[in-house]
Amino acid sequence: MQELFSFTSIKEYHTYLNSHQDGCKIAVEHFLNCIESSKHLNAFLEVYTEEARQRAAELDNKRKSGAAIGKLHGVVIALKDVISYKGHHLSASSKILEDFTAIYNATAVDRLLEEDAIIIGRNNCDEFAMGSSNENSAFGPVRNAIDQSRVPGGSSGGSAVAIQAGLSMISLGSDTGGSVRQPADFCGVVGLKPTYGRISRYGLIAYASSFDQIGIFAHNVDDTALLLEILAGPDKYDSTASEQPVPVYTASLNNPDKKYRIAYFKQALENPALDKEIAGSIQDFIEKLRSEGHIIEAVDFDLLPFIVPTYYILTTAEASSNLSRFDGVKYGYRAALTKDDDLNSMYKKTRSQGFGKEVQRRILLGTFVLSAGYYDAYFTKAQQVRRMLCDQTKQILKSYDAIISPTVPTTAFKIGEKSDDPIEMFLADIYTVYANLVGIPGISIPLFKHSNGLPFGLQVMTSHFDELSLLALSKTMMQLKP
Ligand code: GLN
Repeated sequence: MQELFSFTSIKEYHTYLNSHQDGCKIAVEHFLNCIESSKHLNAFLEVYTEEARQRAAELDNKRKSGAAIGKLHGVVIALKDVISYKGHHLSASSKILEDFTAIYNATAVDRLLEEDAIIIGRNNCDEFAMGSSNENSAFGPVRNAIDQSRVPGGSSGGSAVAIQAGLSMISLGSDTGGSVRQPADFCGVVGLKPTYGRISRYGLIAYASSFDQIGIFAHNVDDTALLLEILAGPDKYDSTASEQPVPVYTASLNNPDKKYRIAYFKQALENPALDKEIAGSIQDFIEKLRSEGHIIEAVDFDLLPFIVPTYYILTTAEASSNLSRFDGVKYGYRAALTKDDDLNSMYKKTRSQGFGKEVQRRILLGTFVLSAGYYDAYFTKAQQVRRMLCDQTKQILKSYDAIISPTVPTTAFKIGEKSDDPIEMFLADIYTVYANLVGIPGISIPLFKHSNGLPFGLQVMTSHFDELSLLALSKTMMQLKP
């Protein structure tokens, strides 16, 4: 019989391992069972059953031998299917890469393994991380564990559900415009997108390279901080990975007496698309923070209406370029050809059959905004707006420690509800894409429950590379959870 196991935090798990010689094996069996009984959620595209068992046995032996153990010793982790794990399939939930096997490890994966983590499987996501609902996967939608008729959010939906449904201790996702924070909000878990450049992108399949960051899903803020500490830092394989020193986040999380100066955007909380109850809960929470001695002020932010269009112009432009490598020549899917096909029709057929509808839409849109006649009208203009957003944000963060906002305007919607209306789907990204446009870190913390029974979060953002304040403030806020 499987020994009872439950997970609350990495710290408690490590205490448990001190008194359980076979603790890693027990943990792995526990998660394998949970994954098996949650198959209907479609959160995993692949489970590394035997490998995880073997690794657990090795780690248990390592402990028994008295050898020094890693900071993530025995921690069971799932990876979004856009993060390269050598020798394992890597498909970006796309037919075009269905049979592709990764030939090297992402730097993030190397760092996990160096600290003794156990990688348990590969999570379903929206194809090439494009989407907000996980309905764009070539391998079927992921279901929200709280209500299976609803989406878990996207694009890292499988990774969010892995935490929500207790299928792993930690999962890694990627966040280009909210793909970690938005599903974290819909699933009631913690989701962090670090500063652009904080974690190496080496081995992360590119969607929009000047926006992409690997992000962390966890059950609590402490575990998130530990993971960031391990994953962050320079990397000779990614010149955009920052050289800035990585603080010991875990040592500075408890600062309950610190009083913060926090801003929120008036236009964001008064946005007509924002669910009234979400707005009300955040207002109440703001009052609570004030009564604790924090200063919370409304600031004007008139660029709000430009955020979503700017994001979708720049990311589709970058995507059209990044995804040009999937051409049926070097690797991945190639369409069946006839003797009448030439090189051009080979490209056309391969890409039409290999990419799903949403990816095609974005490649077309991105190619359009970069085309000679429209480059200045769209691409250049959007870059100018991005610069203005950055400047205004820096200005605001000179006077405030943090900016708060809703993470998403609504709670998790029904599967199929928005599939026919891409614009409506895009507009729901209004609060999350901002942090990627300006490069600052953002986190969604699971503070609230709606009267419809679904969870929702609060988004907290701070200055570039100030994850320390971000995490400490998040921890303080979690202690005030309504
Ligand atoms: N929902 C956004 C989009 O579809 C964000 C995606 C992401 O962060 N990868 O582009």
